[in-house]
Amino acid sequence: MKNKTLPKDDKEKLDQLLTKLEKESNHFIGYPCNLSFDYSELQPFYNFAINNVGDPFVSSNYRVNTHELEKDVLKFFAEITHAQDDYWGYVTNGGTEGNMYGLYLAREIHPEGIAYFSQDTHYSVTKILRILRMKNIMIRSQNNGEIDYEDLEETLKIKRDTVPIIMANIGTTMTGAVDNIIKIKGILEKLAISDYYIHCDAALGGMLLPFIDGAPEFDFKAGADSISISGHKFIGSPIPCGIAIAKRKNVDRIARSIEYVGTLDTTLTGSRNGLTPLFMWYAIKKWGVEHFRSAVQHCLEIADYAIDEFKKMGQPAWRNSCSTTVVFDRPSENLITRWQLAPYKDFAHLIIMPHVTKEWVNRFLEDYKKDRGLK
Ligand SMILES: *Cc1c(COP(=O)(O)O)cnc(C)c1O
Repeated sequence: MKNKTLPKDDKEKLDQLLTKLEKESNHFIGYPCNLSFDYSELQPFYNFAINNVGDPFVSSNYRVNTHELEKDVLKFFAEITHAQDDYWGYVTNGGTEGNMYGLYLAREIHPEGIAYFSQDTHYSVTKILRILRMKNIMIRSQNNGEIDYEDLEETLKIKRDTVPIIMANIGTTMTGAVDNIIKIKGILEKLAISDYYIHCDAALGGMLLPFIDGAPEFDFKAGADSISISGHKFIGSPIPCGIAIAKRKNVDRIARSIEYVGTLDTTLTGSRNGLTPLFMWYAIKKWGVEHFRSAVQHCLEIADYAIDEFKKMGQPAWRNSCSTTVVFDRPSENLITRWQLAPYKDFAHLIIMPHVTKEWVNRFLEDYKKDRGLK
């Protein structure tokens, strides 16, 4: 394989791809991914066959891994979600895997339980519930995207004999709405339901709420049993990733020892990415809590700036209080394509991530103005 170079045509194809990615990244304001990251210091690590197969907390036969740093990453998330010492987790492929892990744990503990989730829940969840063959009930959402507590209460009331598995959205995909788990626990208490499981889908919100004063609590202290948080969203990464974190005593009930890899088979996939824990570790160590706090603050300010500018044009725009997702009227398909927006029914959104500056917002709004035929 040495000294071979790519055929000319293929080299050109590669160059074209690079140009495309650069161009498209310049109009990236509709998905919750932070583009400002730089992991070039980690380049020497690309030359190893790193594989984090198995449980990061248990030694493995396959030792070309980054388990030590993976555990540091989990420790950071355990701290910001107040997990105490009784936690277990691993670095996943992203939010979906974390949700699947949480719901899998819930089903193993409560095989007859019924999963409750709102209309605004991420599309991955209905798929996961089908794969896991879990009984489930969809609950109405309020206009802002938050779960309708009255509908939840009425529904739970009828099913008091079955353990509820609550799938709470900590930042919905479309409007960044937060299902308040303290309120949900209040409903369970009122109905005298003492046995339940709460999984928090905190794909984006898990890196926002811990850094916003007065945000609703969604963490282990507030009563979560498991949480899924993305790594490639607010932190940013060239490879999708995230974390699943859960109470250790629940995980211990499903752990199985596998001789072939000499470790515990506690993760959903076998072979696991060893570079993504490294990226997350690097970002966490380099930036730290104080940086994340000011980055979140900055994004909220830019989101408010965008809302003000929409309003100056006479265009409605709003956001939920702990979210950097700015919701506005659905523009033309042309604009949706140009800015890679994620539309839903009659609205669309901007998601302000750390790479989005006022200049980015202005560039978008100029296009939006033209699109709507405004002066
Ligand atoms: C992004 C997202 C997911 C899914 O995450 P993936 O990394 O795409 O698997 C799940 N839930 C919410 C609320 C999300 O924003």
